[in-house]
Amino acid sequence: MDAGGDEGGRVSAGRSRPGPLTRATDFIAAGLAVPEDADALGRVTGRYSAAMTGYLAGLVDRADPADPIARQFVPDARELRPDPLDLADPIGDDAHSPCEGLVHRYPDRVLLKLVSACPVYCRFCFRRETVGAAKGGMLSPDAFDAALDYIRARSDIWEVILTGGDPLALSPRRLQAAIAAIAAIDHVKIVRVHTRVPVAAPELVTPEMIGALKADGATTWVAIHANHPRELTVLAREKCRLLIDAGVPLVSQTVLLRGVNDDPETLAALMRAFVEARIKPYYLHHPDLAPGTAHFRLPIAEGRIIVARTMARLSGLARPAYVLDIPGGYGKIALNAQAATQEGAGDWRLTDPAGRSHAYREAAGKPHSG
Ligand SMILES: *Cc1c(COP(=O)(O)O)cnc(C)c1O
Ligand code: SF4
Repeated sequence: MDAGGDEGGRVSAGRSRPGPLTRATDFIAAGLAVPEDADALGRVTGRYSAAMTGYLAGLVDRADPADPIARQFVPDARELRPDPLDLADPIGDDAHSPCEGLVHRYPDRVLLKLVSACPVYCRFCFRRETVGAAKGGMLSPDAFDAALDYIRARSDIWEVILTGGDPLALSPRRLQAAIAAIAAIDHVKIVRVHTRVPVAAPELVTPEMIGALKADGATTWVAIHANHPRELTVLAREKCRLLIDAGVPLVSQTVLLRGVNDDPETLAALMRAFVEARIKPYYLHHPDLAPGTAHFRLPIAEGRIIVARTMARLSGLARPAYVLDIPGGYGKIALNAQAATQEGAGDWRLTDPAGRSHAYREAAGKPHSG
């Protein structure tokens, strides 16, 4: 990851710690894990990328053993437990990848993975098998050109969604070059950037970075991933304000996670905080079957109850769509009664956007295990 400038704002928390926490020993030294777990956590960080910015570490309430910020970023020995339902590629990116870095599942939009690194690594990441600085870094210039050729040759592609990895892990200069090249394609009207940076490493949202997001020929939208109202700090909200005031509309993405936000009060507070910050709630994702993330999952039936209770409290403006990505690459569906029907404990029947029916298995109603 390129070093970002820090002229855009001061990080008030965790300034004594210069780099992000990445090794088991870093998390232990920061008091976020216990020394007895050093071996297990070393195996976790050997298997899956780990990083937590000092800024996020500073948001953890050390007195709370179930702190929802720590739970999202601190490696956990439970990640080593295999679960029979785990899938290496839970949303089927590979099935729809016409060339390196591209996923083309819907006619009018493509995903483009510019970079495999993120400033932080969420422990529940659905792309955890492919994200990480060691997994290939930035897309090579040749691969980027091939992706541009693919998009150029298909006039149906109206929207290019930059994901990864986190596109804002790139330097403003590189991001600007990529976005300008994409926006220069006539039929591409929208560039959507999916990022966690405004809440995870807000100091990277500099005037240069904001300028890099905009380019002639297309409109840029930014989708911000945040899962708990405490992620929307004064600093994070200030960075969102700068983005919006610069003319970049923001939408939200949240993953429904056991032990982080699996209750209506927390979810409603999060959605309201988004709207107050001028971020339109967009998606609430049911957790994917990513490997080593079983402790973050909850049954769909429980998710539906939590979501119904959340929605009942909220203004229409604050309601996201509750969605699931069907394994195998069949697309996202709203988890409503038409698209998802329960056939037994842990057995579901899902109907994809093309009307095809798929069996889906989940763990049958495990109790909350912290
Ligand atoms: C989620 C996703 C999109 C974007 O879908 P929207 O519903 O438009 O947000 C596009 N392509 C792929 C492959 C996706 O997984
Ligand atoms: S920021 Fe996104 S891509 Fe990166 S680890 Fe978190 S969920 Fe995965």
